[in-house]
Amino acid sequence: MSNPNQAMVEKYRSNFLKEVEANVEEGHWVKMCMQCGVCSGSCPLGPHWEHPPQEIFMMIRAGKREEVLGSSSMWMCTSCYNCIARCPRGLPITHIMHGLATYAKRLGLQPKTQPTAKFSQLFWNNLTKTGRVNELKLGLSLYFMNGFANGIKTALKMQDVGLGMYKTGRLNPLEILGGHSIKDTGGLQKMLKKAFEIEEAKIAEYKG
Ligand code: SF4
Ligand code: SF4
Repeated sequence: MSNPNQAMVEKYRSNFLKEVEANVEEGHWVKMCMQCGVCSGSCPLGPHWEHPPQEIFMMIRAGKREEVLGSSSMWMCTSCYNCIARCPRGLPITHIMHGLATYAKRLGLQPKTQPTAKFSQLFWNNLTKTGRVNELKLGLSLYFMNGFANGIKTALKMQDVGLGMYKTGRLNPLEILGGHSIKDTGGLQKMLKKAFEIEEAKIAEYKG
C-alpha cells in the first residue's frame, strides 16, 4: 500500500500542473499566470524567500514537484494581499500559496524544520481543544518543539518576557492545569467537523 505522496506521484506522473489543479485550492488558476513578476515585486517578504510567488508558479508548470512542495516559501506568506490587489490576471495568489502549503502538509512534504508549519499545528491543537488559546501551554509547546535541551535554553532566554507577561496579567501559571474555555466546546467540535466535511467536499469537487 503506497503512502499518500506516492499515490499522487503515480497518479499524476510527470504532470505536476494537473496535480495542483486537481488538489490545491484555487490551483486551477496557476496556468493563467503570465510571469509578469508583479506579485513577486509587490511581496514585502518575497526577496527573503527561497522562491517568490511568480517563481513558484513557473516551477509548477515546469514540473518541479519536490522543490515546490518541499519549499518553505508558502509557509512564509503573511496574507497581506498585496499580490492579489496587483496581479493583472486576477490570480488569487495568497489562497494558492496557502493551498500549496496545506497540500504539502497533507502529503507529509512540508519542510520539517520550518517554524511556521510547526507553529500552525501547535496553535491549531491548542485552540481547538477548548476554543480559547492557552498561552502558557502554547508558549511551552513552542519552546520545547525542538527537543528538551533546546526548550530549556529557549525558556531561559525568554524568562524576562514570561515574567513581564505574568506581571501584566497576560500569563497565568494556573493555565497549566487546563485553563479557560468557551462555554460550548461541543458546539465548536461540531462546527469543526462540519468545516472538515465542507473542505473534503471541495477537494472532491476539484478532483472532478
Ligand atoms: S502578478 Fe499575476 S500574472 Fe504576474 S507573475 Fe504574479 S501571478 Fe503571474
Ligand atoms: S499575500 Fe503572501 S505572497 Fe502575497 S504579497 Fe503578501 S506575503 Fe507575499
